[in-house]
Amino acid sequence: MPKKERVCSFCGIKEHPDTILIDGKDALICEYCALQAHDIILQVRRDEQKKQKKEKPSFHLNKQPKEIKQFLDQYVIGQEVAKKILSVAVYNHYKRIDYYSKKQTEDVEIEKSNIILVGETGTGKTLLASTIAKMINVPFCIADATVFTQAGYVGEDVESILSRLLQNADYNVAKAERGIVFIDEIDKIARAVDNPSITRDVSGEGVQQSLLKLLEGSIVNVPPEGGRKHPEQRFIQINTQNILFIAGGAFDGIEKKIASRINTNVIGFRKQGTAINKENLLRHISSQDLKNYGLIPEICGRFPVVTHLAPLDKESLKRILLDPKNALVKQYTKLLEMDGITLNFDDAALNYIVERAIELKLGARGLRSIIEHIMTDVMFDLNVSGKKLTITEKYVQEKSADN
Ligand code: ADP
Repeated sequence: MPKKERVCSFCGIKEHPDTILIDGKDALICEYCALQAHDIILQVRRDEQKKQKKEKPSFHLNKQPKEIKQFLDQYVIGQEVAKKILSVAVYNHYKRIDYYSKKQTEDVEIEKSNIILVGETGTGKTLLASTIAKMINVPFCIADATVFTQAGYVGEDVESILSRLLQNADYNVAKAERGIVFIDEIDKIARAVDNPSITRDVSGEGVQQSLLKLLEGSIVNVPPEGGRKHPEQRFIQINTQNILFIAGGAFDGIEKKIASRINTNVIGFRKQGTAINKENLLRHISSQDLKNYGLIPEICGRFPVVTHLAPLDKESLKRILLDPKNALVKQYTKLLEMDGITLNFDDAALNYIVERAIELKLGARGLRSIIEHIMTDVMFDLNVSGKKLTITEKYVQEKSADN
């Protein structure tokens, strides 16, 4: 039987020493058809991207700064300065997006208002950023600056931040492009200014350089699933121009930089009888101090808004237990109410929890771990309904002792 002639299943061209035929499962494709298919795919993708860009809706934020702050007040206790500054910055940010989506020619250039929040751990930096995103209903993601490495090194690439944002936007590129990214622990990638160790210096600065690319408002190629594990994946292009970046960090010891900038000696100040403490100095924080701490000038330039969060005192910690819409005491009271139990905390019990949280030095984060420990036992042992349950100081003390 004569051998069946091999022809391209698409155009019918016969096999020939000059024409490559590639075998598929039940078909063959010649090199010309393969190249043509490649061109068609590229064109379709380009059209898709153009369409997405055209469809980009303008975004109008229907809230005044005062309303933004009122919303924040429901969740974040204290931190009045930060809440005010953040409300105005966010208001301006979304107004800027609106401006650029409507204007054909830009007579005035409105700069982006990325924000740096300086404050100890557990004072509400992440909470502020996530609450803002919740209010304006935009995608939000948290990234930890310490896991990033400069391009080409082992670790996570900074682009993976945008992969997470894209995931949280259900892969809607236009939505992701006006989302909010919170970069935690930005202080940990400061270059070591006082420390001549070359290795640390380089890595911190390298990551800052990589971050710049995102902050500069450029088009970034983002692997949809993040990381470098799937090199075969098609990249998605994300324009970071309208993404709001909020960074947070404790910046341990920055008060010394502030003091020396404002030409004040901490000890000298005390001598004059002025109450000088960390918070008083933090009030004066500026970009210059962040630069002196080890953030490169280009990064500082991309974060024009700098504000601080105060350490939480006893009164604020107690209010955090009771007042926010999602306060821990409110949540547990609701949970037990569903079992027909009325839950009460004695005032002394709350004070004790606050004292313990202060000892832990984790800000409001400490409250959660203490109260969760107590309530897990309470709820585990419960099997009755229609009762009143009061958490006393003695009970809290006993539970803390076996912690
Ligand atoms: P950080 O400053 O380290 O980012 P977070 O915002 O993550 O701190 O705070 C940890 C938790 O502590 C929050 O989930 C929230 O429950 C609580 N918390 C911290 N600060 C405040 C605050 N000012 N008001 C209300 N709750 C707070």
